[in-house]
Amino acid sequence: MAELVKDLVCDMDVDPESAAAKSEYQGVAYYFCAEGCKQSFDANPQQYLGGGGTAEAAPAGAAPKRWWEFWKS
Ligand SMILES: [Zn+2]
Repeated sequence: MAELVKDLVCDMDVDPESAAAKSEYQGVAYYFCAEGCKQSFDANPQQYLGGGGTAEAAPAGAAPKRWWEFWKS
């Protein structure tokens, strides 16, 4: 069974193998329960990643923050 990941938009658990939508941001794949969630994420990824900074704050090639850490604390 595949490991579930969080849909950052609606906070649902999503199975990557059957996710309705997928987006890649800064080299990390994110999965969503619906196309609408993906579009919300794509429109403003930083809002959902919780970094609080701008996209410029994380230069391309830098190791992306492991977004799931935000959900385990
Ligand atoms: Zn969703």
